[in-house]
Amino acid sequence: MADFSNALNEDQLQLQKWVHDFAEGVVRPAAHEWDEREETPWPIIEEAAKVGLYSVDFVGNMFADPTGISVPMVMEEMAWGDAGIGLAIFGTTLGVAAIFANGTPEQIGEWIPQCFGTPEKVAVAAFCVSEADAGSDVSSMRTRAVYDEATDEWVLDGTKTWITNGGIADVHVVVASVDPALKARGQASFIVPRGTRGLSQGQKFKKMGIRASHTAEVVLDDVRVPGRLLLGGKEKLDARLARAREGKAGERSQAALATFERTRPSVGAQAVGIARAAYEYALEYAKERKQFGRAIIENQAIAFKLARMRMHVDAARLLVWNASWRGASGQGFAAAEGSQSKLFAGETAVWVTDEAIQILGGAGYVREHPVERWHRDAKVFTIFEGTSEIQHLIIARAISGLRIA
Ligand SMILES: Cc1cc2nc3c(=O)[nH]c(=O)nc-3n(C[C@H](O)[C@H](O)[C@H](O)COP(=O)(O)OP(=O)(O)OC[C@H]3O[C@@H](n4cnc5c(N)ncnc54)[C@H](O)[C@@H]3O)c2cc1C
Repeated sequence: MADFSNALNEDQLQLQKWVHDFAEGVVRPAAHEWDEREETPWPIIEEAAKVGLYSVDFVGNMFADPTGISVPMVMEEMAWGDAGIGLAIFGTTLGVAAIFANGTPEQIGEWIPQCFGTPEKVAVAAFCVSEADAGSDVSSMRTRAVYDEATDEWVLDGTKTWITNGGIADVHVVVASVDPALKARGQASFIVPRGTRGLSQGQKFKKMGIRASHTAEVVLDDVRVPGRLLLGGKEKLDARLARAREGKAGERSQAALATFERTRPSVGAQAVGIARAAYEYALEYAKERKQFGRAIIENQAIAFKLARMRMHVDAARLLVWNASWRGASGQGFAAAEGSQSKLFAGETAVWVTDEAIQILGGAGYVREHPVERWHRDAKVFTIFEGTSEIQHLIIARAISGLRIA
């Protein structure tokens, strides 16, 4: 087991520089254009695939780092370049993580490579959980999966919403209810490959921020997938449902909670990347901009803002790295450290980008400078992957041992 350390090793330093160079040279220069276009930046994803940044091997190695630091480090650098393009590139990892966490070794081997495609023909994946009436409360999901024994097929019906890469993915991982009476414990995940009849994109959303990342509804109308596309297999599902029906609570929901705790730091890391970008930009601007015959940073009102912004960015990163290390080294999450890191980093990004606009004054409010975009991008980090309120709930429950509502 690796100890927690803030000091990056040689490999991590190299990785950081490599991803930073890509973020600085390729991602950031493209950010404004793709924000305006509100389209998936396929050429940038292709470029990432070409240099090896978007591939099974790269993502596999990143997750295999025993210190847990590589994942948040890469996510921070990419979001520092641009959070929307960063999500267009790494949104695929949501689906990949679901296959990895729930799939059999055969399913992992067959489907994870298809989530990425090849540098010549890149693909993306989507993870479809949320519905119009099941956002924070995933247990009230209506999408149904019914087994057709005669054909050994699962029949999926329902509409998912807010899905990153929804409708444009080669691989949709869809969570559906197999036994609604069992609520969250009656759910299972299915792979729906591109071209499956009955799967279509519904409304594509026009968003406030991260506009280079595609978000849409996914409609499942009598979608039939072969039995082998149930993640984990039927035997395992039947055993789990039987345990749940006997009232033997919780193994799966405990496992699912632990999975979310492990993935949340990587979301927090993206928020750290946006916050750091805004802090750095505001610092430089404050040194250059002169009013009343001196640089605005020479006023404590501005310099103290920057001091606090820096402190919050560094604190957020420490929470993120600590939580990521806890996940990688099997320390567990006694105080929901994964949620802590996502909550703190998300709120830090919103606050720091707001302060950055203030420091730039009118220049902060217009699109000639990137800080207004960073503020728009930051906001989603208090909403998706569990809202700030839900993160508070998870932390409160973890530290109290009570079912706080
Ligand atoms: C850009 C974007 C991309 C997304 N990508 C995906 C994706 O790829 N896959 C996917 O499945 N989903 C995705 N989502 C959905 C996202 O996870 C949900 O939006 C989120 O979980 C919140 O659900 P909701 O929007 O229905 O809000 P609601 O659950 O309706 O919440 C509304 C408000 O009520 C509060 N609230 C709800 N319950 C409680 C409670 N018990 N206590 C206190 N406050 C509460 C919430 O915190 C929030 O402030 C995405 C969303 C966005 C915006």
